[in-house]
Amino acid sequence: MNRRDFVAGGCAACGALLAPAIARAQDWSAPARFTRPDLTTDEGGLWSIMDREERQLRRSPFAVRDPQLHAYVQDIACRLAGDHCPDVRVHIVRTPIFNANMAPNGMMQIWTGLLLRMENEAQLAAVIGHEIGHYVERHTLERLRDVKARVAFAQFLGAFGLIGAVAQIGVLASAMAYGRDQERAADRIGLALMRKAGYDTAEVPRMWGNLIAETNARPGGDPYNPLFATHPAPAERQEALAQMAAGQPGGSTHEEAWRDRIKPHLREWLLDEIRRGQHEEGIALMSRMIERLPKSADYVYARAEIYRLRAKDGDLDAALADYEAAARIGGEPPETHRGLGLVHRTRKQAPEAKASFQRYLELAPNAPDGAMIKSYLEET
Ligand SMILES: [Zn+2]
Ligand SMILES: [Zn+2]
Repeated sequence: MNRRDFVAGGCAACGALLAPAIARAQDWSAPARFTRPDLTTDEGGLWSIMDREERQLRRSPFAVRDPQLHAYVQDIACRLAGDHCPDVRVHIVRTPIFNANMAPNGMMQIWTGLLLRMENEAQLAAVIGHEIGHYVERHTLERLRDVKARVAFAQFLGAFGLIGAVAQIGVLASAMAYGRDQERAADRIGLALMRKAGYDTAEVPRMWGNLIAETNARPGGDPYNPLFATHPAPAERQEALAQMAAGQPGGSTHEEAWRDRIKPHLREWLLDEIRRGQHEEGIALMSRMIERLPKSADYVYARAEIYRLRAKDGDLDAALADYEAAARIGGEPPETHRGLGLVHRTRKQAPEAKASFQRYLELAPNAPDGAMIKSYLEET
């Protein structure tokens, strides 16, 4: 049937022909589970590379070995993946950068810098759903078979073994960057999976807005981030996601459950973020979390540390105000008082410095920097 026949066929025929296309776009359904591809094929080769990467990752000192956190995140992935659940293996990696990735063999990496930035379970489900979208549509294989990607892929292979495990996914991301259409498809599938699992999809554009705001806070606006490097313009993507989410409101965010689950790791991840040294992004992140969770001293303390370390005009005042606010909230990390002592010491306020250092040593008698703090006390 050519176009003319089609048009002449009238609306009954139009409807009949168009209906399946509409159904495909709206009620996307996942393909059946994948079987392990033959090793002699390009796909089989890709899988075996990823299997090797996964073995390295399991042994890596960066692998977060917390069975409870792992089971929690794996369960979210499972509920999103549906029939593909048995093939999805979540690995949590301790790296203070916003990134997640899923390899064609089912290895999913989620970095702790991403977890630190999630406000609730629904936002994490958005990221995981998106990555499962790439997986079920086998986007990596499409890229591998794309002639233009071959050279980059060869470079990626050459880079293996030369760099640390943590850097590899970044290299993979730039070498195997997904196309814009693939990203849009993954976004659409991720949203559909979230809805099916009962999550509030309004959290998807919200999460993107948070990330855009944080990236814009960086001086010079250098948006380097493995995720941004591989995806369509974030603002455009956020807009498209907001439109899709608005179509079907409702669902849950599971914010309380989320906070409980990450609590055992929160201070460690905050410390990693402080040490990352991206002060402006860190301040933007902490300010957002403080607004959301004004009764949590941890984020206020973290922002104080970042101000103190940045030490630009006015930063010591800002640090002092935040340390004091953290102490007022209560349940503050002991290091809050070390920070107060350091600021007072810099300002030659000896009695205040002494009182703060003493409080720190009281709250953290086994602090690794205890000897140094004691030497400060003897100065005065
Ligand atoms: Zn991605
Ligand atoms: Zn993607």
